[in-house]
Order: sequence, then structure tokens, then C-alpha cells
Amino acid sequence: MANIKIEEISSYIKERIKSYRDVLETKEVGTVIRVGDGIALVHGLDNAMNGELLEFPNGVYGMVLNLETNCVGAILFGDSSLIKEGDTVKCTKRILEVPVGDALIGRVIDPLGNPLDGKGVVNTSKYAAIEKKATGVMARQSVKVPLQTGLKVIDALVPIGRGQRELIIGDRQTGKTSIAVDAIINQRGKDVICIYVAIGQKESTVSTVVETLKRYNAMDYSIVVSASASNPSPLLYLAPYSGVTIGEEFMFKGKDVLIVYDDLSKHAVSYRELSLLLKRPPGREAYPGDVFYLHSRLLERAAKLSKELGGGSITALPIIETQAGDISAYIPTNVISITDGQIFLESNLFHSGVRPAINAGLSVSRVGGSAQIKAIKKVSGTLRLDLASYRELEAFTQFGSDLDPITKAKLERGKRTVEVLKQPLHQPLEVEKQVIILFALGHGYLDKVSLDKVKAFENSLFTSLESKEEGKRILDSIRETKELGNTEEIKAFLDKFVKEFSEI
Ligand code: ATP
Ligand code: MG
Repeated sequence: MANIKIEEISSYIKERIKSYRDVLETKEVGTVIRVGDGIALVHGLDNAMNGELLEFPNGVYGMVLNLETNCVGAILFGDSSLIKEGDTVKCTKRILEVPVGDALIGRVIDPLGNPLDGKGVVNTSKYAAIEKKATGVMARQSVKVPLQTGLKVIDALVPIGRGQRELIIGDRQTGKTSIAVDAIINQRGKDVICIYVAIGQKESTVSTVVETLKRYNAMDYSIVVSASASNPSPLLYLAPYSGVTIGEEFMFKGKDVLIVYDDLSKHAVSYRELSLLLKRPPGREAYPGDVFYLHSRLLERAAKLSKELGGGSITALPIIETQAGDISAYIPTNVISITDGQIFLESNLFHSGVRPAINAGLSVSRVGGSAQIKAIKKVSGTLRLDLASYRELEAFTQFGSDLDPITKAKLERGKRTVEVLKQPLHQPLEVEKQVIILFALGHGYLDKVSLDKVKAFENSLFTSLESKEEGKRILDSIRETKELGNTEEIKAFLDKFVKEFSEI
């Protein structure tokens, strides 16, 4: 014992530590035990983390989605036919990352950051992990800056503020995507970065959206992240997280971001598919138990940051497709409860020509009101009630012909309100013009205009406002002060305009 030298002991310990490390390291390599449908079950990765990036042979990557006692379940990005049973899999100790930064603006990419627009690789060296804890309450401030969509019916009735989550919900073909695209188009010159995330859409639909954004020069400040219907489910699952990660990078730099998830119904379906393949127990409507968490952790990342953190924001517009207007199904109710309000679109309205087909009674915005500018708040105060009572009267009076003058006047006003709130595609309206037309409506200037002339009235009113000195002054004052200002001046202008218009 006495003749064992200290050096010998330390070298012995070193040796042991080294072999111990080897044991640790071998734990970071596993074996594929089953593969198929974009899923792999891997044995032997005892230290794998949830969401960790795994390295498979032939350049295929995967992400850990299931941690079980004896194996981990991973989703595969890339060609799963290149993987076979018995292949070795390595842990990377990294959460999956996507490229972020200014270089993405104007690009169309897949959820892993690969280009889809033929413009070559995205030139950025910055990457960010796709899963992150959402910003805490102390790091946030309340929503108070409006995010104008340029659509009268939304900005007046269901106003959206920067940092808010507002759901767009409705059946197939009710104009859901169009509302989101118009909101993006309206951000031109407003210093907002827009991200359109397409999940499970047809490729043709996505390219139409990209073309539209290009036509209105909106790609200059937009990013499109697309996992189309023909992509494997793992990519669809990843798409919204990838989009919000790209958005967060801008938000933490103090920028305002608008992100559209089109749509989360298809996202939930792809997650259900993955979960069933991973043999998770199916719950309600065969969705896995954590489908609520799937969307809540995504939408929680929308925020308005505190001043200390730069005051940036992410406004989220998730889209949900309903079946036959049923908003009480599992996924719709989940997402309704996670968001700060919903814009409910109806097929009936859409087909009767009321577009955007927004049901004013069922649509709400719980926080956007405090972000609305004073002027529009004033002119839209009774709009919701007017519309509701009009719908009621309309149904009630279908059978009777004799109406008292008050009811008749209400009906006529209601008809004109519906007419004014219609808006053609891709023609967003500045808030000051919205204010004037709603002011005119509320003060009865349209009551004598026949229904088929309402749109003409509106258009020539805008032309007149822009071409006349006093008109410009009114518009400028609303834009700058955000207040209605001198209503006598507006009334005088409208009186004169009505006279001119009736002479045409
Ligand atoms: P899907 O369920 O297929 O995703 P969607 O609900 O997203 O459909 P859109 O694709 O936005 O609906 O619109 C459906 C059709 O209605 C499109 O052809 C679009 O051009 C038209 N449309 C939408 N909004 C308006 C509008 N305000 N005025 C006129 N046409 C409109
Ligand atoms: Mg759509």
C-alpha cells in the first residue's frame, strides 16, 4: 500500500473517469427499432430531451416527441425511406432550430428554413430554438396600440390591438384567408413585419397568396412559411412554431409583428396523426390529450413587450375552419378559449353578398377596444346594437307589411349599415376615411341615398375628401390627433357633399 505512488492513483482515477465518460457517451447513441409514416421509434437514448434534435443516417433529422420508458418516439424531417431498422441515431443536445433574421424578409420558406421561392439559400447565420418559454406577465404591457386591418367592419366592431390574439373562424370558403391577407396588405408603411404561416393548404392556394402579396408590394415586409398539404405531417406540425420563432426575433428587437396561422384546424389534424402513429391514447374526437397545450403554448408567445424589453409585439391571427358553423367542436372551443376574441364568418352572409361575411353578434374582441383610436370609438359606439336590432327586425318584419315609421327608419338604417360595412377584396381603408363614412352613416346622411347607390356615395365621398382643401384638413386632423375634432366642420362638409351627390 505504502509503495503506491500518488501519481499512480491519480492516473487510475483519470482512467476511470474516462471510461465513465465513454459509458455516458454511448448512452447518447440509440438504435432505430421501427420506422415509417414519418415516425421513428428509437431505443437506447436514455438522456434524450423532449423536442431534442436527433441525427439519423443519410442526412435525415428528427425531433423527439415522445419519451417512453424504453424508447423515444421521434418525428422525421426528410425522407424516412432512407432510414431502416437497426440504424444508429445520435442525440445532439440541441433543441431544433430555424434560421431567423432580416434575411428572411421577402422570402418563402419551409418550416426548416429551406427556400421555396427559387431564390437560393437564406443568407443568415442566426438560428433560434423553435420551442421557448413564452414571455412572462412582468415582461409584458397591456395592449394599447391598434393594429389596423383596413377592414371597416373589423376596425370598428372587433378592433385588434398589437400583441393581441384574435381568432378568425368560419366554414370552408367564407373568406377567412382573404381577411388575413387584407390585414397584411394594410400594414404597408406601418412598420410591421408580417408572417403568413400556411399549414396544410393546397400549394396553389399558397402561391395565390404569395402572388397577391407581391402584387400589393406586401412581400417587402413579409415572410411566408409554408408546409402544404402534400408535405409530411412532421413539417405541418413544425410550421407555426417555426413562424413564431422567426417573429420573436423581430419582437425582441423592438419591432411589431403580425403573424397569421392558416390554419390551426389542419395543424391539430396533423398532430393527431402523429400522435396516433406514436400510439398515444386518443381522447375526445381522437385528438391526443395535450392538443390544448399544442395551441396554447403557441399562442402564448404572442405578446406586447414591456418598455424595458423594447416594446415590440407579436399579434397573432390564428384561423380555424369549422364544419357547418359548429363552433362548439373540440378544436374551435379550445382555440376560442386561448384567444382574446374571435371574428366569426358565416356562409349564409357570404353567399348573400355580405363580404367580409362577419357575424357581428358572435364576433368579439376582448382587449382591442382599449387600443382603438378615440375617433373611431365615437362613431362606432352604437354600430353593434344597430346591427343586432336590424337583424332582429328583419326576421320579424318579413311577414308583415304595415310598419310604423320608426321601425321602418330603423330597418332602412340597418340596410345601409350592412351596405357600408361591405368591402371588396384587397382594398383596405385608412382609419380616417373609415371614421368619416361611419360618421355620415350614424348622422343619417345616407338615409336618403338609395341602397344601390351607397357604394357610389362612399367612393365619391372619399374622392371629394381627398380633392378638396377642407376635406384634406379633416382627414389630416383625424389622422394626427386621433380625435373626431370639430364635428361641425365635418357636418358642413357632408352637407355640401350630399347636395353635390344628389345632383349627379
Ligand atoms: P378556404 O376554406 O378554402 O381556406 P377561406 O375561408 O380562406 O377558404 P378565401 O379563400 O379567403 O376563403 O375566400 C374564398 C373566395 O371568396 C375567394 O375566391 C375570394 O376571392 C372570395 N372573397 C373573399 N372575401 C371577399 C370579399 N370581401 N369580396 C369579394 N370576394 C371575396
Ligand atoms: Mg383559406
